Amino acid sequence: MYLEQLLLFLIFAFGASLGSFYNVCIYRIPKKISIVTPGSSCPFCKKKIPFYLNIPVFSYFVLQGKCKYCKHPFSPRYPIVEALTGLILLALYIKFGYSITTIFWFVFISVLIIISFIDIDYQIIPDIFSLPGIFIFATAPLFVPEISFMDSVFGIMLGGGSLYLIALTYYMLKKTEGMGGCDIKLLAMIGAAIGWKGVIVTIFIGSLAGTIAGIIIMISSKIIDIKLKIPFGPYLSIGAVIYIFFGQALIRWYFATAL
Ligand SMILES: [Zn+2]
Repeated sequence: MYLEQLLLFLIFAFGASLGSFYNVCIYRIPKKISIVTPGSSCPFCKKKIPFYLNIPVFSYFVLQGKCKYCKHPFSPRYPIVEALTGLILLALYIKFGYSITTIFWFVFISVLIIISFIDIDYQIIPDIFSLPGIFIFATAPLFVPEISFMDSVFGIMLGGGSLYLIALTYYMLKKTEGMGGCDIKLLAMIGAAIGWKGVIVTIFIGSLAGTIAGIIIMISSKIIDIKLKIPFGPYLSIGAVIYIFFGQALIRWYFATAL
């Protein structure tokens, strides 16, 4: 009778363990360090972290967010990425069940999580994800019934093309780069996976979330600077994830109220 709850917990735990690996990717890929070896170690005292102190989310709270050896505080980012990955897998399972659609979306959102946190830290999106990602996630029609081959192709063109036009216009007006080429490749990858309708929703939600966050950051830091560099990758990713979960409902609601 508790079997269903146990299953849900195991799915979360499995997602969180993968999230633990994504933390390694986020930390090491921009530094060009191998993501396989060596095992986890404290970034401050360099001592190896044994597996029993490396349990996702749980260990962070047991150790009260500090290294067991040198007591240097760890960023709460680590358990946040773990919990986020676990919750995403859980939510996908609840929405799409035990299916290849769930696996496809989980791989896609995992890439978005890694890209977003690298973008937050370094204001870059490594091409190693977004370029092959355009081709890999163009296989969406094979895994997701709602997405057709043409959706995917138009998604790539709209995603890559629209941001390219915005970037070009911005450049001609201000003579500086407002949006990086990284964002263009990312939105092309998102378009490949979720199709052209998804791209429109993603740009809308992404710009809205980015603008609100930008205003909050400006007010809280008391710096009014329109050239403030805000990584756009995380907002586009949030937009894409919202579309995966609520896109069909959003489109139905939009046409129901617009007509
Ligand atoms: Zn340490």
